[in-house]
Amino acid sequence: MTFLDFNFDSKLQDGLESMGYTKPTPIQQQAIPVILSGRDVIACAQTGTGKTAAYILPVINKMMASDHRHLNTLVIAPTRELAQQIDQQIEGFAYFTGVSSIPIYGGGDGAAWDQQRKALEFGADIIIATPGRLIALLAAGTINLTHLQHLILDEADRMLDMGFYDDIVRIISYLPKERQTLFFSATMPPKIRTLANKILTNPEEINIAIAKPAAGIVQQAYVVFEEQKGALLKHVLKTTQWNSAIIFSSTKEMVKKLDGSFQRSGLPARAFHSDLDQQEREEILRGFKNKQISILIGTDVLSRGIDVEGISLVINWDVPPDPEDYVHRIGRTARAETTGTAITFINEKDQRRFFSIERLIDSVIPKLPLPEGLGAGPAYEPEAKKKTTFKSGGSNGGKKPFKKRFNNNRNKPGGNHPKPAQ
Ligand code: AMP
Repeated sequence: MTFLDFNFDSKLQDGLESMGYTKPTPIQQQAIPVILSGRDVIACAQTGTGKTAAYILPVINKMMASDHRHLNTLVIAPTRELAQQIDQQIEGFAYFTGVSSIPIYGGGDGAAWDQQRKALEFGADIIIATPGRLIALLAAGTINLTHLQHLILDEADRMLDMGFYDDIVRIISYLPKERQTLFFSATMPPKIRTLANKILTNPEEINIAIAKPAAGIVQQAYVVFEEQKGALLKHVLKTTQWNSAIIFSSTKEMVKKLDGSFQRSGLPARAFHSDLDQQEREEILRGFKNKQISILIGTDVLSRGIDVEGISLVINWDVPPDPEDYVHRIGRTARAETTGTAITFINEKDQRRFFSIERLIDSVIPKLPLPEGLGAGPAYEPEAKKKTTFKSGGSNGGKKPFKKRFNNNRNKPGGNHPKPAQ
């Protein structure tokens, strides 16, 4: 399945392509058609599963097909960081669509408050708000939610943990009863169910179960610059105890490149990727199972399905784009109650991805110091504000950065985006 199967408006599809999205994640595959159909949704999905796009893409698409001159959608999120992150994603998706968004959160200085108030006066289609700040705006009459069509609660369980239950109930009392409500939570304890029953009408329930890594896997990571990875790989293979190892990379090209350097070094390694025919693949797997081949280098084709016992080491040359693939990759080791080690190389570009994985599996993976002689690696700063730019070759020629926050064009209802370069 690809995003084309949803038949989104071509301008929304352009945004998706510019952001490099091609294949919907499981939560997106399940939730998008239901949301497009207009039904309420209650979804159990963690951060890292692609839940933001799952709820916002169908909402943007519906908005484009209607007259969206009023505030149309409210997303309530527990923290300022999450509100900003959601807003950044919306900016990317909606870049070509004329749909606008504003994040509203507390904790800033007076200037930030002023900026948010001004932005609200100019109007926006989507507001992403933390509960406390939203209550303050509602109480002050700064914000009018009477035309609202979509309410989205993101990370509802976290909001309840943070004591926002009463605030949420109060916010909902300001909303029209006729609306579509999308309720996302990582867990579904009874209190969450009670809240959901209160605010949803005949919802479709979606549950994305995530496999947790087996307890016997020792997970470690190195934060490295791309050019340090080759020397690091040599070091890991020399200093870690292993009999059979798999090295994963997200791209076929890298798998082939690594294969080339292993062949030159004389180690019994073989590459496994989608360019090989069935017979070649079977032959390689047989060799790996009977230990004639001790290192397999593969793409994620290899991360699902192969069931070989006794793999003691998994090395992730890079961080997989889909967090669930990480769980699948490292699950190749420590099968059947044995133990194994999984080591991931994280370059600067992959830090946010790795952070999503840590949130998905709910644990912080130790970052080991680089071995002596390799020099210093980059700092691990996964939450540093991402500078989002379009990929080269995207619909805007790959040149133009996203719009500046609250630029002068914001006073045009539904049309606050700068024109992309033609
Ligand atoms: P979320 O669970 O919404 O926090 O998303 C986790 C990360 O996955 C974000 O960095 C998204 O940009 C990314 N992501 C979500 N869906 C897709 C997709 N279909 N293709 C590629 N990246 C995605």
